[in-house]
Amino acid sequence: MNLPLLYELQYLHKEMDDIINKLNDIKELKDMRKFKEEYQRLKEEYLKGEEKLKKNAYRQETRNNEIRNLDFNKKSSEELKFSKDTNTIKKLENIEKQLEKLEEKKQTAENEIIEMINEADNINKELAETKKKLAFIKKKYLKCKEDADISVAELDEQKAELQGKIDNMIKSIDKESLELYNKMTKTHSDPVAPVKNRICGGCKMDIPAMDYEAIKAGSVKHKCQSCGRILFYRKP
Ligand SMILES: [Zn+2]
Repeated sequence: MNLPLLYELQYLHKEMDDIINKLNDIKELKDMRKFKEEYQRLKEEYLKGEEKLKKNAYRQETRNNEIRNLDFNKKSSEELKFSKDTNTIKKLENIEKQLEKLEEKKQTAENEIIEMINEADNINKELAETKKKLAFIKKKYLKCKEDADISVAELDEQKAELQGKIDNMIKSIDKESLELYNKMTKTHSDPVAPVKNRICGGCKMDIPAMDYEAIKAGSVKHKCQSCGRILFYRKP
């Protein structure tokens, strides 16, 4: 039974677990998800702005049509005012009242158009701002992804190298030891523990003096009474 070698194998397996954990962490990188969500949110904001702009343009067009109609009516009233049909003061007054009303309506519509133009300006400014933010977030996301890809490539390389080491080590360990190790890894991911200063390297509990002496003398049959790991002596 070659416990020191099994202990080394256990160490390599632990390193392998670390690499695999790191790879899993990269796969669900929080930053990348955050950028993705932020991009999505900005995109929706941008589309909403575009929608508002479309509605604004439509409302402006409606008001412009109204103004054209009002102008047409005004022109008709002006013509009527100077025609032969307007032959009493009463009629003249009515026409002038009508003209005043039309002018008021026109003024209101024009004011509304000015407001809408201002609103459209603001929307356009917001859209330009959002567009800038979108480009920024996209850049951030791509950089993040690039970094992650590099890390993955590095870890994959380390993983392959480590796997080579593990394979070589397994070849140099006798079948009996390996079978025991494999059986024990079902209950402990690190079933082999070195003993130092009468303490189990796995759970840090004291080893009975008798066991300790035997282990020190080279016994490979002793398990820790508290954690069950198989113990071997390691010179301090
Ligand atoms: Zn223990």
